Amino acid sequence: MRKQPLASLHSDGDTDFTLLIDGQWRAAADRRVFHAHDPFLEQDWGRIAQATKSDVDAAVNAALKAFDDRRWSGLLASQRAACLYRLADLIERDMPALVTQQICENGKLIGEMSGVTAAVAADARFFAGLAEAHNGSSVPSSRPNFTTFTLREPIGVCAAITPWNTPLGLLGWKLFPALAAGNTIVIKPSEITPTSTLMLAALAAQAGIPDGVVNVVTGDGTVGSALVQHPDVAKIAFTGSTSTGQQIASQAALRSARVSLELGGKSPNIIFADADIDQAVSGVMAGVFAASGQSCMAGSRVLVQRPVYERVCEQLAERGQRMCVGDPFDPATELNPLASRMQLERVLRYFDVAREEGLHCLTGGHRMDCTGYFVAPTVYRDVTDDSRLFREEIFGPVAVVTPFDSESDAIELANRTRYGLAAGIWTQDIKRAHRLLHAVRAGTVWINNYRVVGHTLPFGGMGQSGIGREMGAAALDAYTELKSVWIDTGNDVVFKTGGEH
Ligand code: NAD
Repeated sequence: MRKQPLASLHSDGDTDFTLLIDGQWRAAADRRVFHAHDPFLEQDWGRIAQATKSDVDAAVNAALKAFDDRRWSGLLASQRAACLYRLADLIERDMPALVTQQICENGKLIGEMSGVTAAVAADARFFAGLAEAHNGSSVPSSRPNFTTFTLREPIGVCAAITPWNTPLGLLGWKLFPALAAGNTIVIKPSEITPTSTLMLAALAAQAGIPDGVVNVVTGDGTVGSALVQHPDVAKIAFTGSTSTGQQIASQAALRSARVSLELGGKSPNIIFADADIDQAVSGVMAGVFAASGQSCMAGSRVLVQRPVYERVCEQLAERGQRMCVGDPFDPATELNPLASRMQLERVLRYFDVAREEGLHCLTGGHRMDCTGYFVAPTVYRDVTDDSRLFREEIFGPVAVVTPFDSESDAIELANRTRYGLAAGIWTQDIKRAHRLLHAVRAGTVWINNYRVVGHTLPFGGMGQSGIGREMGAAALDAYTELKSVWIDTGNDVVFKTGGEH
């Protein structure tokens, strides 16, 4: 039998999944709900609270009170770390349920969702370990008779606004450093994937994190917007589309709130003629067809050196056609549905654009004839840099393939984008790999691999792919303010060394 999601969490009358505010689970103030929806079955399954502005105010007030009375930041860093370690254990205990919940929300494959959810526990432990180690520094004074140093202090109430493609993974990248540093938080998950976030928040309470420190408001973009505009939200961490991120940044700028943005991408995957072509094609497939292309780091522009161009085009088309479509819970399935009807319609519109532009489609370019929001793995060849499909993020299983001749042509094509999230380079020439990794403008560069991430290395983008970095030890800096301290030590004291006695 197919795995079933948790159908309710702290339900209240007509609301199956309620808001978490100050440790209390409650329906929206006006009791409005929206539905969870399974994109494989094309069926609604749960009623979730659509928060009002007054719910957002209540959540921010609770987070502010919890911050001001120091019930979290006043703990020893080791005590905060202990809570995060317990939370990691609880995430591992409930892993199967958390994985099932996310699959029933966004339709991604069980292999992918299991991997990213296991990483959430590892991420929690990473930031727990850093909680005590993260500090300011002792600084030599530039003036006589002063002792000077810096302190790292929490910022206050943080907002985490997350997308649907990797609900818990991208939440953990914000939640754990925020908590490790002593902040309180209000989370606004995507309206497509809210229930797994509520489950994680319930585990945070079980782990001993005090009431009011972690709050969750669910609903659409209006809820996120109310959070962004709230005067008591000191920092906003956002992952999502570039257009929403830019709107958030401009609203936050009006009151000097801190912002970190992880936005879209149109990343190049560059194959040189000297590469191991079979390995490179596998990397390209994983880069653009994994998660049906619904990945910010999708390697959706495939740049291929002329001598191997025909071979790569052929292999991509042939392997794309062979991908196994089916239930995301079946480990044999290779292609999952898109996460929503809206996303499906968005991708189908790009197929219309491709037809209008007269692009040469090698395979795909249509919705699949089955239940679920599936589109066929799609490959367009000979796509030039003036095509909208070369320039715009599609967020679907759509690869555009472009030939190049020289290394400098490859660099120029790779950088011809407003984005700069990631890049893949396939070559066996180590000197070329080193030249390229400097020349390509991207927050992450993969040499002979693609789409690998882990908690010790920062992740984020250049250009319109975002501002700031998540993960890596430096991620904690983004959740702290730096305070400089000058201590007047009085008049000169003559120090005598022991050697004079
Ligand atoms: P989206 O921008 O539509 O929504 C993201 C979140 O913002 C959701 O929770 C949504 O409700 C909320 N939101 C919408 N309008 C808002 C507003 N005006 N103010 C505040 N919040 C608002 O993006 P999406 O469709 O959920 O996600 C897909 C996009 O996310 C893609 O473009 C993808 O590239 C990007 N993404 C980036 C990364 C990264 O790390 N760079 C990771 C995953 C996804």
